Amino acid sequence: MSTDVLVLNRNFYAIHITNWRRALSLLYLDHARVVDEEYRTYNFTDWKEMSKLIENHPSGYVHTPGFRIAIPDVISLKIYGRIPVSEVKFTRRNIYEHYSYLCCYCGKRFATHDLNLEHVVPKSRGGQSSWDNIVTSCVECNLEKGDRLPKEAGMKLLIQPTRPTWKGPQSLVLHSPFKVKASWQHFIDNIYWNSELEK
Ligand SMILES: [Zn+2]
Repeated sequence: MSTDVLVLNRNFYAIHITNWRRALSLLYLDHARVVDEEYRTYNFTDWKEMSKLIENHPSGYVHTPGFRIAIPDVISLKIYGRIPVSEVKFTRRNIYEHYSYLCCYCGKRFATHDLNLEHVVPKSRGGQSSWDNIVTSCVECNLEKGDRLPKEAGMKLLIQPTRPTWKGPQSLVLHSPFKVKASWQHFIDNIYWNSELEK
């Protein structure tokens, strides 16, 4: 049996692909959780229980004398390994994370699809796409501000643009050829969020 399991880090970034043996051992040792398509996580005991209920699991099951356990499609690590210290990449995901999914103008929290990246000094005025000039804003504030400076629009930034100091894992290592399973898709979609934006 060779069943690939997608490994996410604690922030649900796809970082690795492993085999089912390693995945189940990480789960059993409580170093990892199973992640389902609704982003729910399960520890070993929960997953064992869930496995009783899952019919026709596409990746199959591992049978032991006492029970059967479904082979997870996706697991997330509970702990970080060694983290290479590097500058926080200027990516959509990191920008959203940096501002905690808040609109920097009205201060309310939004779902990712209701947030925009906003140039404080508009591009048309020479504003750069950089940590110092990009904030997150909701659609409404974005429209209200338009192509103006906050002052001109009579708006105030509740959260000032800053450069993040947090240095965590931002890598998405999916270099080797692999077969994408349907259940991996929205984790792979992270590529959209994690690729470095053009400056
Ligand atoms: Zn807003």
